[in-house]
Amino acid sequence: MAIALVYLVAVSAGAAAQTTDEPGAPTEGLVALQSEILLLVELDAFESVPPALAAVHREWVSYTNGFTRNGLLKWLYEVDRDGAAALDRLVDGDVRLSPAIRTALGVIPSTDRVSLESGSTIAIPTSTYVSALQSITTQLAGRVDVASLRPSSTAVAQDLVGPVGDSDQSVAPTRAAGASPRYPWAAVTLTLGAVLLVGIVLVLLGRRRVGSSPTVGHFDRLLDAGRRMAGALDRQEIAEIAVEEAIALTSARLGAFICVEEHRLSLGHQTGDVVDERRLDSGVLTRVAATGRTARLVSGDEPSITSLPAALLAVPVIGGGRVTGIVLLLKGDEAPFTERDEAAIGQLAPMVGSAMTAADMHSSVAELSRTDALTGLGNRRKLDNDLAAALMAVGDDRRIGLVMLDVDHFKRFNDTNGHAAGDEALAAIGEVLAAHVRLGDAAYRYGGEEFALLLRNVSESQAVEVVERVRDAVADVRVDGAEPQPGGRLTISAGLVLVAGGDVDAAIGAADAALYEAKHLGRNRLVVATAGVGAG
Ligand code: GH3
Ligand code: MG
Ligand code: MG
Repeated sequence: MAIALVYLVAVSAGAAAQTTDEPGAPTEGLVALQSEILLLVELDAFESVPPALAAVHREWVSYTNGFTRNGLLKWLYEVDRDGAAALDRLVDGDVRLSPAIRTALGVIPSTDRVSLESGSTIAIPTSTYVSALQSITTQLAGRVDVASLRPSSTAVAQDLVGPVGDSDQSVAPTRAAGASPRYPWAAVTLTLGAVLLVGIVLVLLGRRRVGSSPTVGHFDRLLDAGRRMAGALDRQEIAEIAVEEAIALTSARLGAFICVEEHRLSLGHQTGDVVDERRLDSGVLTRVAATGRTARLVSGDEPSITSLPAALLAVPVIGGGRVTGIVLLLKGDEAPFTERDEAAIGQLAPMVGSAMTAADMHSSVAELSRTDALTGLGNRRKLDNDLAAALMAVGDDRRIGLVMLDVDHFKRFNDTNGHAAGDEALAAIGEVLAAHVRLGDAAYRYGGEEFALLLRNVSESQAVEVVERVRDAVADVRVDGAEPQPGGRLTISAGLVLVAGGDVDAAIGAADAALYEAKHLGRNRLVVATAGVGAG
């Protein structure tokens, strides 16, 4: 979020040289202000909402629809408090503030709080908030050093949302499943909101400055590009959209997206033959990556570019205060890129950066939501996904081995040694399982003291061999406190089914039934389901 705001500031500041001046408070103020606006729209707090804002809100709202009204209100109050604190610091920092900013960043008056809580509209109109957003952005133009603004985006989002999540148990289950992902979801939400808000500010500022900058049509295109990118949660897809939109905005002939990581450049995407991948580390692209400044030139001897001479436009994409990519455009040298082209891509680039930040957060959150926190193994959701994918891919002559495992008499172990020792034992078992499956196979914690193995492409005898090896390895683990267990050690029972198709539930049901049988027959053993699942 904060990163996205850095872009906001960068956009308004243009590519001009910038000096550092009180970067913290304005950034916080913007974070709070834009979140506040979208939350107020979400809460139906305004008499009327301008179409551009309504459109942005429609895109954004899908990320908050797990929140109850109560949760949204608490979130809003947090944001409002942060905004007011930022206002104080802005004043301390001797920043000139318009009445609009003062009203919008100030604490929501108690009369408006009463209105909000009773579900009616507030007295402060939308236009006040929107003009505050405009004026704070304009005021900051030229004042802020983009590179110096590096608060952690997740931390900011957690600050904003944390207390809401803590005290509001009514967050929808889709977001509440697993406590830890809830905050990162909020971060993603906020970042996506910010991508779109960058768009609004562009429209607002741009429409006032038509003539010296791209046309109104361009801004609509930019807004659209923002929406497309905010909807794409994958870096590659965002790079492709970015290049496509950049070409459309400038009538470039060709385009490419260059990824910049730790000062190393690599090709993300190109339309046709644009760059020489082996020579990316020299010339104009390295310069853009190193300085964070746009390059607009005509060149006949650029080592990294394939078809020369050509007119080039290379615009940096910033993420987390660093250059993370370059949008590169190319056309014939007879018609060089204009200032207007540079301005248009300068406005697209921040959206690309925000969208990529959001995509990164999203994938780490998605990964988290499929990982069991205690053992680090995949969880039940991951097993469901992986098993479904494996069942789709299984061929006629192949079998998938699904094994359900359950620790024997684990309640006794817990009762004797306490829950913490139980957790340690489960973590140790998880480690053994992960270490003893073959490459390409996987172990999961299905829940509680139940685990699962997914064995790809196995015969029955191979699967049995794997399971017996795993069972032996678990029994060999030295666990303090296992003495009262039968045989003085922790053991597991297992049910194996070989499947060649069918669905996830049928496969798990069959393995579970075999596991039940293993328990019934005295535990500490493997039972293979007699009839496999699915046609062969
Ligand atoms: P069985 O051989 O029939 O599987 O007996 P059991 O005692 O293992 O089975 P039961 O289902 O009666 O009890 C499972 C116990 O596993 C209950 C609970 O104490 C323990 N357990 C489940 N999840 C966890 C966990 O995350 N941590 C700890 N420490 N214990 C857990
Ligand atoms: Mg059990
Ligand atoms: Mg058990």
